[in-house]
Amino acid sequence: MSGTSEMSLVGRGNKEGARLFKEWFGELTEAAEDGRDGAYVFVMGSLAELLRTFDLPIVFPEINSLQTAVRHAAHEYLNEAEDYGYSPDICGYVKADVATQLRGGQLPMGRIPKPGIAVYTNACNTYIKWAEFWERMYGCPIVTIDVPGSRAAGLHPGPGDPDFEHDRRYVLAQLRELIPILEKVSGKPFDIDRLRETMGHANTMARGWKRVLELNRSKPSLFNALTDGTIYLGVSNCLRGTPQGAQFFDELVEEMEYKSAQGIGTATEELYRLLFVGVPCYPIFRRFSELFTEWGGTFVGSTYLWFASGGANGGHQYDLERPLESLAEGLLLDVRDAMDSMFFQSDALLEMYDAYDADGVVFHPIKSCRTVSTGLADSRRDIMSRADVPSLFIESDMMDRRVVSEAQLKNRIDAFFEGLASRRAQAAVASA
Ligand code: SF4
Repeated sequence: MSGTSEMSLVGRGNKEGARLFKEWFGELTEAAEDGRDGAYVFVMGSLAELLRTFDLPIVFPEINSLQTAVRHAAHEYLNEAEDYGYSPDICGYVKADVATQLRGGQLPMGRIPKPGIAVYTNACNTYIKWAEFWERMYGCPIVTIDVPGSRAAGLHPGPGDPDFEHDRRYVLAQLRELIPILEKVSGKPFDIDRLRETMGHANTMARGWKRVLELNRSKPSLFNALTDGTIYLGVSNCLRGTPQGAQFFDELVEEMEYKSAQGIGTATEELYRLLFVGVPCYPIFRRFSELFTEWGGTFVGSTYLWFASGGANGGHQYDLERPLESLAEGLLLDVRDAMDSMFFQSDALLEMYDAYDADGVVFHPIKSCRTVSTGLADSRRDIMSRADVPSLFIESDMMDRRVVSEAQLKNRIDAFFEGLASRRAQAAVASA
């Protein structure tokens, strides 16, 4: 335990995660006050490793937007964007950001710098239209990195395969075009040794993230993938490529290894182990989680911790001997993996169901995000046709409280748990 007492070790990840997140936001506020421009990125393929080498403050508009919902202020931002002309059915993250920009970058957590550049992938089509708003408003350069996705479910050519090599070269060529633009925006020359450093930190983080997720197969599970997992996810995105982020994940692995060895689970008495598919319901985040934990349901894994980490869950390790080529390869593998988790998730869900010894799967499509939600009904039908998997399908939103009905959610969730309990009782009778 490297001299750390159990009291300070258990729960350390949550406390440190919150502290680092606050600190990171403080730095953004400072940059905004100093009039420095930021690099705007998204969680699926942020390229933080590269952007950090140019000392650009990195802004994650998706994370800023979800924070407005967690802090119960999202409706004010959504109303403002809708008054400005944005339709109610547009992604709530976009609208919260539009209102943020109209307020000069002001958010409940502080202030963000305006964009000097936006760099993003095609992992979500909304990213592309969203960035056009910044381009119109600020006249800043916007760069889309086109990452070819998997051509079909289960088709995963890797390094060495001719198709993969073509795709890798295609992504690499785009990174080579991006670098002079970043040099111009930041006024700094590209330093490949700094890139090696940030990629080294990203390696440590990815290794740790993969291990932490694997460790949650323990019984009882060590953290709630819906709530605690979102804190770890925030660090994995916002501090990607930094020494602080790398240290956080080393320490998180230490904490989880310890909890696993000692049989220390989450605060909830674990009666049902669940998988979560989709994005959490942030407007009533705590209550949403309680609707499950009150029945003894814990989320042992989720697709959110997969796609929203930009694929870092796979633990991909960069080759620091050939940084740029390896960055292109990592971006291709990670973003493709993130897209697979949304578009071709059935096989992986069934694997997770067995590996985590889960009791059920909760599908949570949301009005705001078609990228993640489209196809979830088909995915549910597919896994149910292939295996005996109890599942729940509930709809709400990650931003818009107007389409979140706690009473309706509770009805459906209660019925789901009653079904799980009766299934368990029947199994006990059959085996008696
Ligand atoms: S549509 Fe979904 S994935 Fe795309 S930006 Fe909005 S929340 Fe993110």
